[in-house]
Amino acid sequence: MLRIGLTGGMGAGKSTVARILAERGAVVIDADAIAREVVAPGTEGLAALAEAFGPDILAADGSLDRPALAARAFGDDESRAKLNSITHPLVGKRTAELIAAAAPDAILVQDIPLLVENGLAPLMNLVLVVDVEAETRIRRLVEYRDVSEADARARISAQASDEQRRAAADVLLDNNGAPSDIEPVVRRLWDERLVPFEHNLRTGTAAPAPLRPVSADPEWAAQAQRLIARLWVACGQSAIRIDHIGSTAVPGLPAEDMIDLQISVADLAAADGLREVLGTAGFPVKADITGDNPKPTEADPAGADTGLWAKRLHGNADPGRPANVHIRVDGSPGQRFALIFRDWLRADAAARDEYLEVKREAEAKAAGLTGVDAVDAYYGVEEPWIDAVYGRALAWSAGRSS
Ligand code: ADP
Repeated sequence: MLRIGLTGGMGAGKSTVARILAERGAVVIDADAIAREVVAPGTEGLAALAEAFGPDILAADGSLDRPALAARAFGDDESRAKLNSITHPLVGKRTAELIAAAAPDAILVQDIPLLVENGLAPLMNLVLVVDVEAETRIRRLVEYRDVSEADARARISAQASDEQRRAAADVLLDNNGAPSDIEPVVRRLWDERLVPFEHNLRTGTAAPAPLRPVSADPEWAAQAQRLIARLWVACGQSAIRIDHIGSTAVPGLPAEDMIDLQISVADLAAADGLREVLGTAGFPVKADITGDNPKPTEADPAGADTGLWAKRLHGNADPGRPANVHIRVDGSPGQRFALIFRDWLRADAAARDEYLEVKREAEAKAAGLTGVDAVDAYYGVEEPWIDAVYGRALAWSAGRSS
């Protein structure tokens, strides 16, 4: 199932966005509601809290007296840790139960106020951040939710900064305007990204690559880092390193809007071992590509599938962020060249210009064609140039390290 993380500062409008998504069919899991549920009257959670912090944390009606608990539990680190050791496992267990109960084709939206603070973004397929200026949030909390201004300010300053949250956002939802402004934005996100993302995830389909260079997007680097964090969760110890490679890793270079990433592994068995986990994480196998074109100076006697230039290629199920995930053996010529080629382009402005010329020529060759024909025409121009500069990039790298 597709797991969407929804977060934002207090008063940003998470509940508002969650409601719109629920109306479209999302299964919403509200972290705050679970946190209340696990310490409701009669629960083992509340009993454990009373045992740890004393019966004074209970109100006359037997419910949790939150201010009394806060006074006892927030005073020092040890008490805070004790509180967390009681509530966190219960919240985790209940969340896992709700996730397990959702249908396999569900689009799950987890409304988690402290998603960024708790480092949960890499566990999600996509993170939505509701973004509203702090002063507006404070005004809305005071006006509509009966929070005192001092309380709102104190709680907002204890949370992650807007900058930190924006860095975690795959999708930034601007809720500074009227409630009627955000509704169509969220609906479009549902129809055009979340629904096809879920379909692609379930069917193991990678989003297609656009074959057209566009102006360099300053967000590419951060987008790549968010995907890399997810890939680390999926790969665990099977990955030796994971890098942002290709044209989008070269600042300023116009490129196809396609993030290239490289997972370096010990051997091909490790690469094949990642097939399932990457698919489940939203990075399904892409086509039947099992190797790079051997470069002219280093032929491949064993053939593309298992030899020197073998690789495995996955994509991204997210139609909003096409990606190529190349899995290559650490130290193999293809793995090393991917890193050297990127660094050479970063260092050499003339090389970047030359590459851009080639991309434009490739685009022209593919114009008017579709499907495999377009891909063949495009790479029929780009690949020979990369083969031709292979030696130059390697020589540059050798010169640099000597
Ligand atoms: P959160 O769940 O992020 O804390 P809420 O969704 O509860 O935030 O929104 C905070 C308050 O602001 C609510 O009373 C909500 O109705 C109101 N609100 C949400 N979006 C807007 C908006 N665009 N304009 C004005 N008020 C809004």
